[in-house]
Amino acid sequence: MKRNLTMGLLLLVGGVFFSCNSNTNTATQPVVEEVDENTVVLSDNQTSVIWLKDNQGERKMNRELFGAPDSLIESLGLQEGIPSSVSTFLMHADGEWILFDTGLGASKGGQLLEDLKAYNLTPDSIDYLYITHFHGDHIGGMVAEGKPVFPNAKVYVGAVEYKAWIEDMPEDRNAMQREAMEVYKDQLTLFQFGEVLPHGVKAIDAVGHTPGHTAFQKENLLVIGDLMHGAALQMEHPEFNANFDMDKEKAAASRKRLLDYARENHLVMAGMHLPEPAFISME
Ligand SMILES: [Zn+2]
Repeated sequence: MKRNLTMGLLLLVGGVFFSCNSNTNTATQPVVEEVDENTVVLSDNQTSVIWLKDNQGERKMNRELFGAPDSLIESLGLQEGIPSSVSTFLMHADGEWILFDTGLGASKGGQLLEDLKAYNLTPDSIDYLYITHFHGDHIGGMVAEGKPVFPNAKVYVGAVEYKAWIEDMPEDRNAMQREAMEVYKDQLTLFQFGEVLPHGVKAIDAVGHTPGHTAFQKENLLVIGDLMHGAALQMEHPEFNANFDMDKEKAAASRKRLLDYARENHLVMAGMHLPEPAFISME
C-alpha cells in the first residue's frame, strides 16, 4: 500500500521535473535524465533525490529483533521477517551532489560505488557527505585501505554523535569511527541539531538509535536514517524498537515524534532500512 502511494507521487512530480530540467540543462554536468520509482523530486521542483541500494539481493529483518508478540507479527503477515534494505541517498542540488551515508563499504559487499557508476558518477563527484550516525552500515563506505573513498567531499557529522563515539567511547569499541574521522579531519564539519547545512538541508534531532542520530530535511523530503528497521511493523507500532537501538526509550520517542511530524507535513521519508525503493510518502 505504501509503495503505491509513493509511486503516485513520483509520477506526479516527475512531469514537473522534466519541464523544469529542460530549461536549466547544462551540457557538461551529469544530470538525472529519467525520473523513475527510485527518484523523488522535491517540492522546489529543482532538487532530486535518488535511492541507491547498497545491499545485494533481498534483505529481511528477523522478527525477533523487535520483541513484538507473535499474534501481532502474524496479523501483519511478517512471520518470515520484515522487508528491509541497506540504502543510501544521493541528492542533486544546484549542480552539486550530496550523499547521505555511505553504506557498508565495498570490502563488505556494499554496492554504492557500482550504483554511482550507473549515474555516470565516480566517488570524486561527491561534493558533500551528510552522515546520520556512526554505525558500520552507514560510515563503512567512507574509507578504503586507510584512504578517503570520497576525496572531494566536505563531510558533515553531528557534534553529539562525534562526541559520543570519538571522545566518550572506550577505544576498543570505536576503531572504525576513529579511522573515518581521522581520514577526513581536514574536510570535516560538526553540526548542531537545528542547524541548516549547505543547500538548505536541516539537521534534526532523532536521537535514540545512537546518541547523536540525526534526520535531515529539505523541502518535503525527510531522510530518517535508522528511525525504523522494520517499517511494516513500526509505522503502525512505533513503540517497538529494534534491538540495535542504543537508548530504547529515546528511540521510540523520536520515532513517534518524527512520524507525526512527517504525517502532519506530508513529507516523503527516505530511510536507510526501509523496504525497496526506500521512500515512504506520508500523504
Ligand atoms: Zn543502520
